[in-house]
Amino acid sequence: MNLYEPTWDLDSIFQGGSESEELKNYVSTIENKLSELHNLVERFMPPKIAEQTTDLADLIERIQDVSVRVRQFSAYISCLSAQDVNDQAAHRWVTTRSELGAKFKNIQIEFDQKLVQIDANIWKTIIKDLDLLEVAFVLDERREKAKDKLSIEQESIINNLAVDGYHGWSQMYDTIVGKMNIPYRGEDLSVGQASNKLSDNDRSVRREVFQNWQQAWEEQADLFSQTLNHLAGFRLQTYKHRGWDNPLKEPLEYNRMSEKTLKAMWTVITKHKKHYKRFLEVKAQWLGVEKLSIYDVHAPIGNSDQKMDYNAGAQFIIKHFRKFSPLMAKFTEQAFANRWIEAEDRPGKRPGGFCTSFPHSKETRIFMTYSGTLSNVATLAHELGHAYHQHVMNDLPGLNQGYAMNVAETASTFAEMIVADAAVRDAKDSKEKLALLEDKIQRSVAFFMNIHARYLFEIRFYNERKSGTVPKERLNELMIEAQEEAYQETLNEYDQTFWASKLHFHITGVPFYNFPYTFGYLFSLGIYAQAAKEGPAFEEKYVALLQDTGSMRVEDLALKHLDVNLEEEDFWEQALQTCIEDVEEFMKLSDLLYSKE
Ligand SMILES: [Zn+2]
Repeated sequence: MNLYEPTWDLDSIFQGGSESEELKNYVSTIENKLSELHNLVERFMPPKIAEQTTDLADLIERIQDVSVRVRQFSAYISCLSAQDVNDQAAHRWVTTRSELGAKFKNIQIEFDQKLVQIDANIWKTIIKDLDLLEVAFVLDERREKAKDKLSIEQESIINNLAVDGYHGWSQMYDTIVGKMNIPYRGEDLSVGQASNKLSDNDRSVRREVFQNWQQAWEEQADLFSQTLNHLAGFRLQTYKHRGWDNPLKEPLEYNRMSEKTLKAMWTVITKHKKHYKRFLEVKAQWLGVEKLSIYDVHAPIGNSDQKMDYNAGAQFIIKHFRKFSPLMAKFTEQAFANRWIEAEDRPGKRPGGFCTSFPHSKETRIFMTYSGTLSNVATLAHELGHAYHQHVMNDLPGLNQGYAMNVAETASTFAEMIVADAAVRDAKDSKEKLALLEDKIQRSVAFFMNIHARYLFEIRFYNERKSGTVPKERLNELMIEAQEEAYQETLNEYDQTFWASKLHFHITGVPFYNFPYTFGYLFSLGIYAQAAKEGPAFEEKYVALLQDTGSMRVEDLALKHLDVNLEEEDFWEQALQTCIEDVEEFMKLSDLLYSKE
C-alpha cells in the first residue's frame, strides 16, 4: 500500500513560496501582457463589415491567455495565505492580486462594450470565419449582457459610485458584526464563536446562546435594517435605470438558468416537505422535546466515533470512487501521490477547506485540515470532486472554463455522496448508521427548508423595497413568515433576526446567494441517481457533462447529457427520490432503535 504525505507541494508551481523569484517574474509578465492588451483593446475598432476582423481573434486569444495567468497567480496566493496565516509577504501579494484583477476587469468591460457595437449579422459571419464557434456561447452571452446595460459612460459612473454607495454598505455590515459580542456565562463570544455554540451537543447550551444571540442582533437591528435597505435600494435603482423589473433577472442570468426551472424545483421540493416534516418530528423525539426549536434542527442525535487516519481515508475514497468512475479514481490516486493535498492538522493554518486550480500548469491543490473524522473524509471527497471537475476541463479554451455557482457544486456533491453513502453502508452498528443517515438528511433539510426560507424572504423583501424602505419590524415579520412556510410550521421557535445575522443577505457581489445551493445539490443528486443505475458506463457521459458546464445554459446542459427537461417536474422528482429514500430508511431504523431505548 502506498503511504501518502498529508502536506502539499507548492514548489513545483513556483519555487520558493511568497519570496519566490519565479513568482515575481511571472507577475511582471502578467503586468506587461495587461498593458499590451489594454492598448490593443483601446485601439480595436468594431468592424463595420465582416472582412475587417483580423485582430479580433488575436484579442480573444490574448484575453484567454491573460485570464489563465491571472488565475494561476491568484490560486498560488490563496494557497500561500491558507497554509500560513502569518505569512506577511503573502498578504502583500493579496493586494497585488486585487489590483491586477481590477485592471483586467476594466479591460474586459471595455472589450465587451465594443463587441456590442458589432451588427448582429456581421457578428454571426465573423464567429464562423474566425473559427470562434467553440467559444461562441460565451462571447454571445457577453454581448447580450453588455447590450442589456446602459452605455459605457453610464455604467462606469455606476461602477465608480458603487464603491462607496453600494459595496460600502456591505463593508459597514462586516465592521459592525466584527465589533459585536454575544455574552455567554460570563464570557464575551464573537459572532463566530457563538455561532459554533449554536450547534453544541447540549441543548441547554444551545438555548442559552440562542437567547443571547437573538438579543444581540435585535439590539443592532436598526443599523442592519439600514445597511440592508441601502444596498438593496442601490441595486434596485440600478436595475430601474437599466429597465430591469424582475429582481431575479441578475441572479438567474448569472446562473444561466430560467425562472421556469427555478419554479419547477421549488414546486417539487414543496410537494415533498411532508417527509421532512415527519423527520423533524421524529428528531424531536430523539432530542426529548415536543417540538424542535430552530436551534435544534442541526443538532446531532448521536455521535459517530469512527476514525480513519489520512491513508485509510485516501484508500476508502479511491476504492468507492472506482465503483462509479475508474478515471476519477485514477485521477484521485495521482492527486494523493503527487501531493496536491494539504491536509495536515497543525497550528497556523486557515480554517475551512477549498480546492483551487492552476490552469497554466493544469494542476489543482486542495486545502483542508484532516483530523480523521468521517466528516473529514466526506470533505476531502468533496474537494476531490471539485479537482476532478477542473481536471476534465483543463484542455478547453480558457473562456469555456468559467462556470456559475449552481453547477460549481455538481462534481463535488457527486463525489461527497459516493463517500457518504459508502460510510452509511459500512456503519459498524445500527446506532452509528442512524447517526450517519441523520447527518445526510440534515443536508436536505438545510437545502430544502433553511435555504428555501432565505429565498422566500429575499424575493418578498426586494419586491416590497421597490416602494420604499422596509422597517426592521417588517423585516422580522417577513423572516418569520418565510421560515414558517419553509419549515411548514414544524418548529416552535424561529429566528426573526436571521435577515441580520446571515451574511449572505449583505453580500454585494451576487444577489440571491441562496437558491443556487439548492439547485446544485439536487442537480448533482439527479446525476448521481442516474450514475448509480448505469454503473461505470455512465462515466463518459458524466465527463462530457462536466466539460460543458462552462459553456451552456443549464437547461441545454441537462437536455444534451441527461435527456431531461429542467423546466418540468420529472427530473426534480427523480432527484428528490434519493433523498426521500434516506428519510424512509431513517424512519425504519429509528422505530427499531427507539423501542429498544
Ligand atoms: Zn464545494
